[in-house]
Amino acid sequence: MKFPKEIRTFCPYCKKHTLHKVEIVKKRPRRTLAHGQRRFLRKMKGYGSFPKENPKKREKATKKVNLKLTCHECKKAHSIKGWRVKKFELVEKER
Ligand SMILES: [Zn+2]
Repeated sequence: MKFPKEIRTFCPYCKKHTLHKVEIVKKRPRRTLAHGQRRFLRKMKGYGSFPKENPKKREKATKKVNLKLTCHECKKAHSIKGWRVKKFELVEKER
């Protein structure tokens, strides 16, 4: 989907609707893996039991995007939870 680079939305710091700059929050790589993921990798190596094949079918087809909104008035940023989309791009606002 296409999303405007600037939107008017509620700023929790100004406590009103202001113009916000929109940025996509990139997912940071985790230093440590979740317990389930570590267990899964062990299984993949074949430790303890026969190696399990990669369950590709269970993988999700889409990725969630998170957005960072920077308020033009107070210059403070807050983020909003993303939603699942196949493709996400920021576009200039149509005039
Ligand atoms: Zn603000």
